[in-house]
Amino acid sequence: MSEKQVLLGMSLEEMKAAFKQMGQPAFRAGQVQAWLTKGTPFEEMSNLPKALRESLRENYVDLPMSVHQAFPSRKDDTVKFLFSCLDGNIIEGVLMHYHYGYSLCISTQVGCKMGCAFCASTLNGCVRNLTAAEMLSQVLLANRFLGEKGHVGHIVLMGSGEPLDNYDNVVSFLRQVNAEDGLNISLRNISLSTCGLVPQIGRFAAEGLPVTLSISLHAPNDQIRKQIMPVANTWPIHELMDEVRAYVRKTGRRVVFEYALIDQLNSRPEHARELASLVGGMQCHVNLIPLNYVDERHLRPAAPEAVQLFLKILEERHISATIRREMGSDIGGACGQLRRSVLEGKA
Ligand code: SAH
Repeated sequence: MSEKQVLLGMSLEEMKAAFKQMGQPAFRAGQVQAWLTKGTPFEEMSNLPKALRESLRENYVDLPMSVHQAFPSRKDDTVKFLFSCLDGNIIEGVLMHYHYGYSLCISTQVGCKMGCAFCASTLNGCVRNLTAAEMLSQVLLANRFLGEKGHVGHIVLMGSGEPLDNYDNVVSFLRQVNAEDGLNISLRNISLSTCGLVPQIGRFAAEGLPVTLSISLHAPNDQIRKQIMPVANTWPIHELMDEVRAYVRKTGRRVVFEYALIDQLNSRPEHARELASLVGGMQCHVNLIPLNYVDERHLRPAAPEAVQLFLKILEERHISATIRREMGSDIGGACGQLRRSVLEGKA
């Protein structure tokens, strides 16, 4: 493991102090920080003297994370990454290529403590929060991987972890990734997905960050939701919906409801009708996801005909809805699946 200090994430003052010790003028700290937030490696920091670039490489690490392994899909342009943190923890991210450009799904925690019954990320609980610099590094490393091919223009906070359970770091990351002198990614191109931590949704609405909020709903009522999402025991669905409505009013942004279709449990016609009356009249979109089967879980995906019928019932009731396109299914598509198979030596 590296003993070297990490530069990304250091404040300008800390960096100035470190540079002073190296006998460097203070303005170099600002130059280096500007390069770092764009992900430029030391050797390409072209306004620094060569000797300084070399001494930085010898004495410091630029990012607190590196690519452990990249798995390009053979079916499409999707690339799944395993990133390693400096403390040896491994997290995952997915790079997807759409007609509008590259979108990266990033993790916000190592593991997750929310305990959703269908999700692989939560099987071993939450190890720790990721820092803002670690979240930013996932984007910078994906950009380095792309090189001349392009860069990440859209981000979804849908990898492992519950973003609103790591509130301060996530908000700090959002501000940094949006900064004009950094990656300058529009907040409108960023989606934050939450299992529904009601107080934090209210707090987040007040931040004035126009990201798209995605709510992992997965059930039309508390009775079903409690069977698959422990969070429903703390925050009943009506309180969640009230808070989401307030979010829409406050931000003017359309929200997205994620709904994984599980055989029998939440995918029957009566569930579709109940969902339609729950979200009817809201400025929203429903994203139907055929459940990704996770070995350790005993839930099965709904049959394709059931998925189509579910969609039809929503459409008949004028609810905007689509079925999520499956990408990179050959490389461990669902949350936490690839990391888990690597931890268990199966990848
Ligand atoms: N904790 C956040 C974000 C991470 S999960 C949240 O709950 O929203 C990203 C999305 O993938 C969530 O909608 C989650 O419910 C969904 N998901 C997790 N495991 C899945 C599986 N096996 N099949 C389909 N969707 C899954």
